[in-house]
Amino acid sequence: ETLDRLCIHGSVENKFPTESFRAAFDDLDLPTEVVGDGESLGPTDAVSSFRPRPEFHDVAWVHCIRAGYDEFDTASYEAAGVPLTNSTGIHDTTVGEMAIGYMLSLARLLHVYRDRQVKRDWYAPPYERPFTVENERLCVIGLGTIGEGIARRADALGMEVVGVRRSDESVPGVSERYHPDDLHDAIGDARFVAVTVPLTPETEGLLAGPEFEVMRDDAYVINVARGPIVDDDALVSALESGDIAGAALDVFDEEPLSEDHPLWGFEEVIISPHRGSATNRYHLDIANLVKENVRRIRDGEPLCNRVA
Ligand code: NAD
Repeated sequence: ETLDRLCIHGSVENKFPTESFRAAFDDLDLPTEVVGDGESLGPTDAVSSFRPRPEFHDVAWVHCIRAGYDEFDTASYEAAGVPLTNSTGIHDTTVGEMAIGYMLSLARLLHVYRDRQVKRDWYAPPYERPFTVENERLCVIGLGTIGEGIARRADALGMEVVGVRRSDESVPGVSERYHPDDLHDAIGDARFVAVTVPLTPETEGLLAGPEFEVMRDDAYVINVARGPIVDDDALVSALESGDIAGAALDVFDEEPLSEDHPLWGFEEVIISPHRGSATNRYHLDIANLVKENVRRIRDGEPLCNRVA
C-alpha cells in the first residue's frame, strides 16, 4: 500500500489546534495538508478527522480522532472498503484523572466551596456532609481503557472498586466483576457509579429511572462516556426527588448543553464541557496513534484500533 498524503480535516479543531496537530507530523516523511469540507480526496490519501464526511469514502484510510466513533457509519466504510480506525487506548490517564477529580470534589465539597468563594462567603457545611472516598464503593460500568484508568486510580485511593463487564477477565484494581445482566446488583451498593461504555444500541439509556431507584440515595453518577447512555430527564427527576445525591457530567444528549437546561441548576451536579480528555498533550497522543498506523500500512501490517 502507498500513501502520498496525510490530510487533516479542519474539524480536529474541536479537540486541539489544527496547526499543532499538523506540526506533530513534521518528523514523518509524508506530506501533510489541512483540508476543509468537500475537498477532493483520492485513493492514496489518508485522513484524520473529528467528523465523518462523504468524501472520506474514496481514501486509503480514515482515522477518527475520537475514541467514540458513534457518529461514523461503520457499514458505509465497510461497503466502500475504506478502513476506519478510532482513538481508543489513550484516555486512561486524562479521563481517569478527571473522574477522580469529580469524586474527590463531590466528597470534600470543593465545588461547593468554589461556588461560595465567588460570593466571598466563608461557608461551613453541615457536619455530616463531607466524606472521604477511601473505603467508598465505586462501580465502573465498562472496563476498557477509561474504565480501567479510573479503576486503577480509585483503587490507589483505597476505594472499593467493582465493575460491569461482558467478559469474565480480571482487571487491575477491580475486586468484583458483574455481568451486564446483573447491572442492578452491581450499582445497588455503590456510592459512585461511573459510566465508561461506548454509545451503542445496547448502552443507550443504560442508566434511567429504574437504575436511579435501585441506587443508594447518597450515590453519585459520573458520565464521561456519551450523553445518551444516561437518560437526562430521568436523571433530573432522580435529583429532584432525592433518589440519588448528585452527578458529575462531561457529556450530554445535546452539546453544548442549552442555557436553560435544568442540570445547570443543581449544587450537587458538576458540569464540565466535554473536556475529559483535553490536555496540552492531546494532539501528540493522537498523532502517535496515527504515526503508528502509517508505519503499519507501509510495513503491510494490520492497523491498530481498526473499527471498520
Ligand atoms: P474502550 O473501547 O477502550 O472501552 C470500552 C469498553 O466498554 C470495552 O471494554 C467494551 O468491551 C465495553 N463495553 C461495550 N459495551 C458494553 C456493554 N454493553 N456492557 C459492558 N461493557 C461494554 O474505549 P475507551 O477509550 O475506554 O472509551 C469509552 C468511551 O468513552 C468511548 O466510546 C467514548 O464514547 C467515551 N470517551 C469520552 C471522552 C471524553 O472526553 N469525555 C474521551 C474519550 C472517550
